[in-house]
Amino acid sequence: VNPANTSRTCSRCGHCAAENRVSQAVFRCTACGHAAHADVNAARNILRAGLALRRAAQAA
Ligand SMILES: [Zn+2]
Repeated sequence: VNPANTSRTCSRCGHCAAENRVSQAVFRCTACGHAAHADVNAARNILRAGLALRRAAQAA
């Protein structure tokens, strides 16, 4: 899975903005207010992207 942008994309609403990344450790979405540890948020996005790829592969 390509991890590009996962660290600045909201795992709740999908909003992607550099401003979401408050610091190296803290993520806070400027759209919905969702706040989480930056690594946890990125991991959720990577997981979702991986599952989507797997579903696509199974359907093919
Ligand atoms: Zn959000």
